[in-house]
Amino acid sequence: MKVESLKGKVAVVTGASRGIGRSIALELAKVGATIAVNYKSNEGEAKKTLKYIKELGGIGLIVKADISIYNEAKLLIDTAIEQLGRVDILVNNAGISKVGLFMDMNEEEWNQIIDVNFKGTINCCHSVVKHMVSRKCGCIVNISSMWGNVGASCETVYSASKGAVNLFTRALAKELAPSNIRVNAVAPGVIDTEMNNWLSSEERKALEEEIPMGRFGNGQDVGKTVLFLCGEGAAYTTGQIITVDGGMI
Ligand code: NAP
Repeated sequence: MKVESLKGKVAVVTGASRGIGRSIALELAKVGATIAVNYKSNEGEAKKTLKYIKELGGIGLIVKADISIYNEAKLLIDTAIEQLGRVDILVNNAGISKVGLFMDMNEEEWNQIIDVNFKGTINCCHSVVKHMVSRKCGCIVNISSMWGNVGASCETVYSASKGAVNLFTRALAKELAPSNIRVNAVAPGVIDTEMNNWLSSEERKALEEEIPMGRFGNGQDVGKTVLFLCGEGAAYTTGQIITVDGGMI
């Protein structure tokens, strides 16, 4: 299979200081994209992502921004345009989760989840879309979750925030298709990142047994799907939710 090239393209990846976001940034950098590595608080890890990009022969910069705040999301996109010349690809990856019974959650907790996962995605899209429309090209990939497709007990608001991302993806794709901008989502299953660190080894083993492929996914499994969606192979693909879950749902 021909290796995708994104040489000369500029990509913004939110929440790229670790986990899935870092893997996405590295997969895009491997094929020549310049990367704006966004993070919220962990500057050291964001610098590490940039260091790995440089070791691959790539280039980029790190940008601190809390994407749940509209003006910070705007600053992220504006900084990428100013310093890297333009934005061809936006990957809305930053997200948070909280596991527990819905009745034990409080307003602050559900506001936080919705603000980061759903509003953060909207904030970044809104800030980049005018720029992409004026250039008549662009590619947006939103990272949702398999729970956004089917809902999960003890992750109710998280599931809803990701379901909202899925529907936003489908709707925005229709609105932006005439401007030659594609919008898709990747809905990962259980991926081996810090987000799942709370699992005990017994819980982890039990969960692995529920996955037909018998293992957690890794960041590369998601990163390679994002790479496909950003490339020529997906030139006629928009408004789709691609589930990457080892067959779990
Ligand atoms: P993670 O390891 O917890 O990393 C989260 C990343 O998001 C970090 O880089 C963090 O930055 C950043 N972030 C959090 N809040 C932010 C904010 N307000 N503004 C900017 N950046 C922010 O998570 P992950 O497992 O890689 O998950 C990445 C995405 O995949 C999320 O959207 C998640 O919901 C989704 N997902 C994950 C799984 C899974 O099993 N892991 C499954 C399905 C979907 P700092 O380091 O600076 O805090």
